[in-house]
Amino acid sequence: MCLFCKIVNKEIPAKIVYEDNNILAFEDINPKAPVHILVIPKKHIETLNDINNENSKIIGEIYAVIANLAKEKGISKTGYRVVANCNRDAGQEVFHIHFHLMGGRKFQWPAG
Ligand code: IMP
Repeated sequence: MCLFCKIVNKEIPAKIVYEDNNILAFEDINPKAPVHILVIPKKHIETLNDINNENSKIIGEIYAVIANLAKEKGISKTGYRVVANCNRDAGQEVFHIHFHLMGGRKFQWPAG
């Protein structure tokens, strides 16, 4: 079972900030910004390449959770970045799709 499936199953502890039937959001263990939350589908989907017409509804739901969390954390007006890394060149380390919600500082563009 992958690391994030273990977090979903509560086999590994995490600082959970949001949970519903399909989605879990928790604090990144190695934060890259004052706010750094990972938002994931509970269902195991390996990479962005595996999103299709059957499972894509969850992506919109994840973005709605992100918008709410950004408001809750007070970064919706100042701004925030959402990042999803896919495969080697993007530096994906955990092969269960996740959306990084990062805020509370100014970001560079283009991303490194
Ligand atoms: P990726 O590089 O986009 O795959 O991001 C993986 C993220 O998961 C990194 O930002 C890690 O800091 C984070 N991470 C790894 N293990 C854990 C954990 O056990 N709890 C919370 N975050 C984790």
